Amino acid sequence: MTGTTHDHRRVITIDGPVAAGKSTVARELADRVGATLFDTGTLYRAVTLAALRREIDPGASDELAELAMTRRIDIARPTPGTGRLYDVSLDGEDVTELIRDPAVDRHVSAVSAHPAVRAALLPVQRDIASRGTVVMVGRDTGSVVVPNAGLKVYLDASPDERARRRHAEIVARGGELTYDEVLADLRRRDAFDATREASPLTVADGAVVIRSDGKTVAALVAEIAALALDRWERSAAAGDAA
Ligand code: C5P
Repeated sequence: MTGTTHDHRRVITIDGPVAAGKSTVARELADRVGATLFDTGTLYRAVTLAALRREIDPGASDELAELAMTRRIDIARPTPGTGRLYDVSLDGEDVTELIRDPAVDRHVSAVSAHPAVRAALLPVQRDIASRGTVVMVGRDTGSVVVPNAGLKVYLDASPDERARRRHAEIVARGGELTYDEVLADLRRRDAFDATREASPLTVADGAVVIRSDGKTVAALVAEIAALALDRWERSAAAGDAA
């Protein structure tokens, strides 16, 4: 059962492991094709931040699901001049930087593994997916959230390349983790995300697998945009012929 009957031909999903370049590529891709960007990881991160603040145990499924259902999480276009990909607010407070805190990194996989938390966040994600041209980023957006998306991409890269990128981002933000710590956290989170029972990280049926090693963001954006435009032209032609 997909649970979704909307026409999602103009939805592009980008799933993949930690720091494969998904969010950066998605921001430019969304601008290129005139889409709304929705990074679903921000929802799980915001719920994790809310839970840490309330000292809720990452194993307390019901309490976490309650948080996921009652907190107001908004994702908006980035404040100009901040260099952000988007702005994230939690009950009206700007938490764009706070949800990238290493404490959130450490606990987010455990929080997102609860089926009740995922179920609570599914309607929000499907609602956004039904708004027309949307680029969705995450772990299960092509496999579970929008299985009938017009284009599904699985973006991957070697652990070394991903750890290097994530380490550079953290250092640029003034963080002090070493490369080895970043690599260890990334491997731990990938293993957790890929082996959990509820919506594990996987290559969705029909997804195009793209490796980002050694490719520039511009090249990746051009590659994915070309695939999307081709699919959209074909489905428009098929619609005309019908
Ligand atoms: O993509 P990002 O690193 O921000 O995601 C944070 C975490 O949220 C992931 O490690 C994963 O545990 C969870 N997540 C998920 N399903 C999604 C998006 C993110 O489980 N669709």
